[in-house]
Amino acid sequence: MSRKLVWIEQKRFRGFGCPECNWRFVPTGAPIGPSFDEMMHNFELQRDKEFALHVCADHARGKSANSE
Ligand SMILES: [Zn+2]
Repeated sequence: MSRKLVWIEQKRFRGFGCPECNWRFVPTGAPIGPSFDEMMHNFELQRDKEFALHVCADHARGKSANSE
C-alpha cells in the first residue's frame, strides 16, 4: 500500500489531498517556525503525518452528492 500525496485543484478546494479518497489536508492554524524554511518544514511534516495517518475507508468517495 503506497499512497501518494497529490496536489488538488477544484472549485472549492486547492491544496494537498489523497488520490484514493476524499481526504484533504487542511492545515490547523498558521505554520510556525523561526524562519520560512522552518515553517515550510513544519508544514510538510504536519501534512505528511496527517496523510500517513488518515484511513481512506473513512473518507471514501461516493458518499457525498455529485462526483464531477
Ligand atoms: Zn486516502
